[in-house]
Amino acid sequence: MTDHAPQSPAPGTEFSVAADSESAGPTATTVEDFRTNLAAVRARLEAAAAACGRDASGIRLLPVSKTVPEERLRAAFAAGITEMGENKVQEAKRKSENLAELGIRWALIGHLQTNKAKDAAVFADEFHALDSMRLAEALDRRLQAVGRGLDVYVQVNSSGEESKFGLEPDEVPGFLEQVRACSSLRVRGLMTLAAHTQDTERVRECFRLMRELRDAGLQAGTVGDGQLSMGMSGDFELAIEGGSTCVRVGQAIFGARQYGYDHYWPEGQPRA
Ligand SMILES: *Cc1c(COP(=O)(O)O)cnc(C)c1O
Repeated sequence: MTDHAPQSPAPGTEFSVAADSESAGPTATTVEDFRTNLAAVRARLEAAAAACGRDASGIRLLPVSKTVPEERLRAAFAAGITEMGENKVQEAKRKSENLAELGIRWALIGHLQTNKAKDAAVFADEFHALDSMRLAEALDRRLQAVGRGLDVYVQVNSSGEESKFGLEPDEVPGFLEQVRACSSLRVRGLMTLAAHTQDTERVRECFRLMRELRDAGLQAGTVGDGQLSMGMSGDFELAIEGGSTCVRVGQAIFGARQYGYDHYWPEGQPRA
């Protein structure tokens, strides 16, 4: 396993959480725009990794393309973006069908209702928001029916915010034991959305909790290769400091979305 143990950032490098209004890069439409934004995000990722003594090659950048229309996804693909994260199954399925010839790898990263497991099973390459046995069993059944497997990340509510999906931290060890029975699901690790605040200590605390749960899962042999899917446009440097192995980045690559965070987390407040 790669060394995920984070160090404090080097002196003079203090990471912070961006306000929502400052999380987005310029809107990318052309291939050139995407190259520019992608290079800027990669530079941030590499700087964050270097600052806490991590090898950037152990940190995956998952571009999040939700709400972005297909024409722009073609440009993104031409700029080298070959995997995309989506948080609504219907939108993701439509995109996967209409862009099928590109061979994009689709990651479902948002809450999935059990009755949508069938849709997800036919096209998703990975799923980052597994949060109940009912859903795990529904996915397993549907995957077996179509002869597919699925990489999954178990979502944890690390912030205690009511608007967040995910298992409560104390439910995680038992869930990981139980989900072993679903043979089509390959558990790769854990996923979270940190507290939606600019208070860096609170955000750090979420990532620290995730690392502890992951380490316990590695000890128990229940958490696959122990990946940690955490960090988004506004907080991915802190997530890297906290041991993230997969940052899910939308607005810093694609540009500001039409809908703000309150569209996805209705009870949440914006990061001021
Ligand atoms: C939208 C979304 C992201 C990316 O958020 P950005 O602020 O656009 O980087 C990450 N994870 C999940 C689950 C999301 O829904």
